[in-house]
Amino acid sequence: MKFLAAKCPSCNGELQVPEDRDFVKCMYCGADIKVREAIKIVLDANIPNLLTIANEELKVANYKEAVNYYNKVLEYEIENSNAWMGKAICSLFTSDFENLNEKEFINYFENAVKYGSDNPIIKEIPQYVYDFANDSIEKIRSIKNHSTYNSVNCKKYFASCSSIIKCLEISLKFDNKNKNILLLLSNILQDLINGSPFKEKIALRSGYTNVPRMYKLENKVQNECLEKLNHYKKILHNLN
Ligand SMILES: [Zn+2]
Repeated sequence: MKFLAAKCPSCNGELQVPEDRDFVKCMYCGADIKVREAIKIVLDANIPNLLTIANEELKVANYKEAVNYYNKVLEYEIENSNAWMGKAICSLFTSDFENLNEKEFINYFENAVKYGSDNPIIKEIPQYVYDFANDSIEKIRSIKNHSTYNSVNCKKYFASCSSIIKCLEISLKFDNKNKNILLLLSNILQDLINGSPFKEKIALRSGYTNVPRMYKLENKVQNECLEKLNHYKKILHNLN
């Protein structure tokens, strides 16, 4: 049987109550206690504490610890928007920029919005996403200048870019006039449309040679990118 920390609502005595019972008698004052109510008194006091610790861990970039505390909050209160938000931010900053798991981030973020669309922290998400995307895209682009940049790298580069685009588009939903995000989006889309030059190593009788090639998107995807680019450019134009 599992026991949970609780407090007697009438005498405030600290109790351990069996979670499978509806009522227990307080060992201090003898009152009949509703188990769920007694547990809730302790939890209500704990959730803000857990959140404070989690947010502090997040601030000092201890993402793993922060996630542990956010998960504890969610164990008690699955609809806690702040905890989902914290998890979304941790998931962004622990992402491997080359293999970004944007689905996880988007899922946490959507939960944060679902359970608290009035959550003031939600307004901060575009800035977090922008910082992350900007940093990632710089790192990915630096690989491009490498002399061994080949078609496999190109494919990875394109995949990373489309993940970053998805994250930026999500954050745009909450700040649809954010110029930095619109500019970065346009910039990445243009880059994808332009294609990416790479070197293909070809074996000759006399040895190897590097032949310059061009990596391009499929026509259908290319058109989608172009449509998006025009859309964001229009918004930017109207903002200026
Ligand atoms: Zn009592």
